[in-house]
Amino acid sequence: MLKINEIYFSVQGESTKAGLPCVFVRLTYCNLRCSYCDTEYAFYEGFDSSIDSVIEEVKKYKCNLVEITGGEPLVQNESLELMKRLCDEGFEVMLETGGSLPIENVDKRVMIILDLKCPSSKMKKKNLYENINFLKPIDEVKFVIGTREDYEWSRDIVAKYDINKKCEVLFSVVFGELEPVALVEWILADNINVRFQLQAHKFIWKPEERGV
Ligand code: SF4
Repeated sequence: MLKINEIYFSVQGESTKAGLPCVFVRLTYCNLRCSYCDTEYAFYEGFDSSIDSVIEEVKKYKCNLVEITGGEPLVQNESLELMKRLCDEGFEVMLETGGSLPIENVDKRVMIILDLKCPSSKMKKKNLYENINFLKPIDEVKFVIGTREDYEWSRDIVAKYDINKKCEVLFSVVFGELEPVALVEWILADNINVRFQLQAHKFIWKPEERGV
């Protein structure tokens, strides 16, 4: 059994898939407490569901792109089986993970969006850097940046681990904390090879809206 917070149909707000229709399966629980978390409702709220029931629900939306998100999906071991089964069914599967738990056993067909937590999140010490060894070219690493210190830390981590030689690197702002123009100017001033992104869903709907 999995504890599911919500399943809904929306457009992908982030990553190189931004703008595409996508079914989101949000799993309950998170082992982190980021300073800017906008999904605290997923820490405990949820309902029990079998993998079969989740797949049945996903199929109702007739959309091939599915994202497993949270909370932190990898807190529940059964999320690995859910992702494998969705891949077997022919879905294009994405996983959004906070970067503190091992990705080693995630099905290799899954596109992983791996967060590395910046200093202002207050969760930097939880980053599991070993995960970088398991990144595939289809994966993406995301830095959510709230301050100049976060930016410099992210830039240096990308260089230290050569992350942009392994996969796409995404830099985005903490919504409401850092002006997008500041981050864009820093990226251009340093001329670094990362992809700036905005969280599209926060501009399409009200920033605090759930289920979008
Ligand atoms: S990892 Fe995601 S869900 Fe968990 S506390 Fe951080 S922002 Fe919130």
